Amino acid sequence: MVVGAGPNGLSAAVTLARAGLRVQVLETHHQVGGGLQSRALTQPGFIHDYGSAIHPLAAASPAFRTWPLHAYGLRWVQPPVPAAHPLGAGAVLLHRDLDATAAGLGRDGPAWKRLLEPLLHDWEGLLDDILRPLPRVPRRPLTLARFGLRALPSADLLGRALFRTPEARALWAGLAAHTALPLTTPGTAAQTLVLALLAHAVGWPFPAGGAQRLADALHAYLTWLGGEVLTGVTVRGPADLPPARVTLVDSSPHVLLDLLGERAPARYRAALAHYRYGPGLQKFDYALSGPVPWQDERVALAATVHLGGHAPEIAAAEAVTTRCIPARPYVLSAQPSLFDPSRAPAGHHTFWAYTHVPSGSAEDAQAQVERQLERFAPGFGARVLARHRTTARQLESFSPVFHGGDVNGGAGDLWGLLARPVPTPTPYRTPVRGVYLCSSATPPGGGIHGMAGHHAALAALKDEFGIQEVP
Ligand SMILES: Cc1cc2nc3c(=O)[nH]c(=O)nc-3n(C[C@H](O)[C@H](O)[C@H](O)COP(=O)(O)OP(=O)(O)OC[C@H]3O[C@@H](n4cnc5c(N)ncnc54)[C@H](O)[C@@H]3O)c2cc1C
Repeated sequence: MVVGAGPNGLSAAVTLARAGLRVQVLETHHQVGGGLQSRALTQPGFIHDYGSAIHPLAAASPAFRTWPLHAYGLRWVQPPVPAAHPLGAGAVLLHRDLDATAAGLGRDGPAWKRLLEPLLHDWEGLLDDILRPLPRVPRRPLTLARFGLRALPSADLLGRALFRTPEARALWAGLAAHTALPLTTPGTAAQTLVLALLAHAVGWPFPAGGAQRLADALHAYLTWLGGEVLTGVTVRGPADLPPARVTLVDSSPHVLLDLLGERAPARYRAALAHYRYGPGLQKFDYALSGPVPWQDERVALAATVHLGGHAPEIAAAEAVTTRCIPARPYVLSAQPSLFDPSRAPAGHHTFWAYTHVPSGSAEDAQAQVERQLERFAPGFGARVLARHRTTARQLESFSPVFHGGDVNGGAGDLWGLLARPVPTPTPYRTPVRGVYLCSSATPPGGGIHGMAGHHAALAALKDEFGIQEVP
């Protein structure tokens, strides 16, 4: 039994079904996918990603890569450039090609290459080691040690130690701001490094037709394996759970608490009750009459665009998002319809953008977000046909995993990553026999990769069925 059909719930279900188990998934929504849902949020003919839009982690995921998802309709769209970062009237580009990126970074080019080239040689082994709970005996100890040395400090510290040019520092800060934490937080260099590495290793692609297509492919593969998903079913307490030998919960630690009730010891319950989340986010989906009029036309080569200007500006904005919405916020945006015409009527475009806000905030960030858009794309507002705003509070109502609008399923600082949801070598296992947590509130944390669900299912298979290897 799996509660929740988000990427981790579906991934857990597929792993169990591949081991030969009969699996049922219960999902609140009438649509599978959780953070992978795509919806018509603005006008007819515009397909918007309600949650995630860009999927380097999914394309590189050790689980997804080995499953035949292409046979179930998944097709990756690769924009020519993984990410762009407008600066003044120009832009810095994060190319798939390491040399091309380095060439655009001037005298910091060699430092960019020295940082990423050694990791790129063994990126698959490295991902196997980091997209699972720590500590484990690493499969690639040397590469992991090389990564770990650079991953432990804050993104701010590492960026200032490695780079001298405003361009390289801005590109690095734009990547670091994905963590939703102040850039001075120890350990934020880890996610920054992974994002940069993936741009060179697999690009930053997205599924043709919208993120939903990845969820649909997982669902179809699960059905082929004999599993089933029941939608429109919310599990609120132990009484809602049909009898099953194992139950995997793709939800928040707070929902897990409700499901375990008095069956869990007080110490475990207290630890879950104090689980820490990061700030929330507020998201805007636009239907546009034409492409975004970027000042530097090369920004249209990338599906992902980081808005926020120079590194000190981004660092200042991200330092206050737990308390307020900054006047000049960091805005993470995506323009998928430039590369996937199925997303909007001919000549029209979808645009996806979010900014970090205090946890649970419903305060309107539209003025601040659109000011940043006008700054780098004058005339943006004139192309808006319709917009849809999603607040942090609405994200939490959509899925309990996004508590307060934290889309990473919990704070992504060092302790938050290592002790997710509690400090134990098998964090998926709960004190109640047969019940496991499998959401992004477990390692390796937020993002679409399905690895939390996969590893939780492997733990359950080993504990309850003595199955050590899944074919
Ligand atoms: C706006 C936004 C932008 C994002 N951008 C990106 C991006 O570009 N790239 C990326 O990799 N990641 C991105 N993410 C993060 C990513 O979506 C999440 O990390 C991921 O969805 C977490 O997966 P999950 O399965 O743990 O939880 P979820 O995706 O939240 O899925 C949990 C599912 O379980 C269901 N559920 C929970 N409790 C119950 C219950 N009691 N009974 C029945 N059903 C239940 C929920 O309805 C939901 O469908 C973004 C997220 C958001 C919201």
